[in-house]
Amino acid sequence: MKLLFLGPPGAGKGTQAVRTAERLGIPHIATGNMLREAVAAGTELGLLAKEVMARGDLVSDDLVIAMLEDRIARPDAATGFILDGFPRTIAQGEALAERLGDEALDGAVYIGVEDDEIVRRISGRRTCPNQHVYHVDDNPPEVSGICDVDGEALVQRDDDAEHVVRNRLLVYREQTEPLVEFYSSRGLRIHPVNGLGDLDEIEAAIAATLDI
Ligand code: AMP
Repeated sequence: MKLLFLGPPGAGKGTQAVRTAERLGIPHIATGNMLREAVAAGTELGLLAKEVMARGDLVSDDLVIAMLEDRIARPDAATGFILDGFPRTIAQGEALAERLGDEALDGAVYIGVEDDEIVRRISGRRTCPNQHVYHVDDNPPEVSGICDVDGEALVQRDDDAEHVVRNRLLVYREQTEPLVEFYSSRGLRIHPVNGLGDLDEIEAAIAATLDI
């Protein structure tokens, strides 16, 4: 199965995409995670992406498309994948369509949440260096400030600061939201899911609409 998770930053795409990928036994491919790993490793890509990400702007299409194409060419992605955070522009959507050719996508999950709730969520978000994600109120770790999975200290991402989040929302509305129309006009089934509520219930709603 080849699925996209669409929706604004902070909608819970990452959390739910991980759960759905585990359910289906296919890789969760998150371009934001890959870029943060490149920044942390200090690679050439990471150096190019670092400042852009800190401002909440988009990394250039060429770089992200090349990175994504390499990733989906790996053997674990042969039977399917969930894309989270890609495509984020029409140019990326077109590049993906060209790369996949006849192997069409099976659907897109669109997780919707209002802007004020997004800001509340993102400002309470905490992550560990291995990119496990928590929320101080909605999804706290067992021990405050420590990742349940690997015991690492939790921190706030630089681009989760409120003024950066506002810019990320603007960028989302201008550059990414048009993909909903792009895909629906091409006949891809978009599954809208309400991103408000209990994480297990949202996971169940996604599984139900995808019939998995
Ligand atoms: P995310 O973790 O998906 O919120 O992504 C964090 C940041 O990484 C974004 O604000 C962008 O700067 C960058 N990024 C992630 N995915 C893409 C993409 N597909 N195209 C361009 N920039 C991206």
